[in-house]
Amino acid sequence: MPIRLFNTYSRALEEFRPLDPAGRVVKMYTCGPTVYSHAHIGNFRAYLFEDLLQRHLESRGFQVRRVMNITDVDDKTIRGSREASVPLAEFTSGFKKAFFDDLDTLRIKRADSFPEATDPREIAKMIEMIGTLIERGLAYQAEDKSVYFRINKFPDYGKLAHFNVEELRSTGRVKSDEYDKEHIGDFALWKAWDEADGAVKWESPWGDGRPGWHIECSAMATQLLGDELDIHCGGVDNIFPHHEAEIAQTEGCTGKKFVRYWMHCAHLMVEGQKMAKSLGNFYTLRDVIAKGYSGREVRYALMRVHYRAPLNFTWEGMEEARQALGRIDDWLERLRAHASETKTTEAPSSKLQAPEKLQAPNEESRGFHEELDDDLNISGALGVLFETIRETNRRMDAAEMGAEEAKAWLEWWKSVDGVLRISGEQAELPAEILQLAEARVQARLAKDWRKSDELRDELAARGWEARDTKDGQKITRRGGT
Ligand SMILES: [Zn+2]
Repeated sequence: MPIRLFNTYSRALEEFRPLDPAGRVVKMYTCGPTVYSHAHIGNFRAYLFEDLLQRHLESRGFQVRRVMNITDVDDKTIRGSREASVPLAEFTSGFKKAFFDDLDTLRIKRADSFPEATDPREIAKMIEMIGTLIERGLAYQAEDKSVYFRINKFPDYGKLAHFNVEELRSTGRVKSDEYDKEHIGDFALWKAWDEADGAVKWESPWGDGRPGWHIECSAMATQLLGDELDIHCGGVDNIFPHHEAEIAQTEGCTGKKFVRYWMHCAHLMVEGQKMAKSLGNFYTLRDVIAKGYSGREVRYALMRVHYRAPLNFTWEGMEEARQALGRIDDWLERLRAHASETKTTEAPSSKLQAPEKLQAPNEESRGFHEELDDDLNISGALGVLFETIRETNRRMDAAEMGAEEAKAWLEWWKSVDGVLRISGEQAELPAEILQLAEARVQARLAKDWRKSDELRDELAARGWEARDTKDGQKITRRGGT
């Protein structure tokens, strides 16, 4: 089954084929954070959707080359640095670091590069692109000295957001307080310096100023990935004007189709309402962690709803996430105990069931990865996972599962968790700890209690605790969770 993705541009599910003639390399650009505050859980929902997409493509053999930009100059960062009375770079550096810490907390795979808008190389690329657009009549410098994109000269403008440019005035989607522009929908490529910008400015052929937000992404994407990308992601908020503008600017310069698949993540609501500071329901990742939840619990809670469906974040949902992960942890512990048992009678190999087929009562059911092939159908994929857990637990209860089958299920889990990345600590025991733990299981099977105790002490000395339960040995970090 091919991978199918929903393309915002065509409003249809399309079979995914990258531009790479060998069909392996995928060029992916994802709009990153504006570093004027800590990112909120709505931002992270989008970053987690992108992480799921990348990891799934990689599990299918694609080699993903991903770029995520850091917007470290715009109205909000400039305002923040003024209010804090510190230079812009100093103001944004703390939030940049916090952003990377948050990515780690949520186990989000790092992009190959995180270009920053204020990098001189990127600013030079933006200026070069703006120059090209002016040369081609697609941009102009207005009386206020700022440079604007001339949307009437780009016939495809509006195709991504699916609206007619002529409707712009009446929809109120653009502000009408800028009278210097030829058309109300023209957007800034270069913003002329004014007093509010303070020391933040760069030289350009059009005078001192700074880039507009949209051109930042066009420049960074093409600088690092080339003129044509396979996938461009973001939140639905980015569709207009940001991504619409990115298409106009980039294609206006290159004359080539900028992006093959546009993918957007739906909104996150909190307790059924739009998240807003004024409503007191605005949460950063740190706010949720401070309530006692772990990064993997937040990861699961924000990832478990299909990316195109609105996600309602609730504390009840966080508890459900905790319970779901607890079920997975318990299941893995049982499987490990079964896998390390040597005395049980092996199930004949003919009875060993291929994991992806276990829960296939009819021909139409799909496995975990096939569900994700279908436009990242996470609900279907998690359905397969929990049905598998239920069924294999039943087999273990009925003493129908031998060590080999348990090992096969643990292998299957590895391929599932390579995408989900929700394993507890147990699954990530350092190799040396795992070795000691396994040696202890063997010692106990041989009734060598002295050796078993020595190994328990050895584990304790390294900060790990071995406990013996009815489902076998459990290893936990001492004093940890
Ligand atoms: Zn962007």
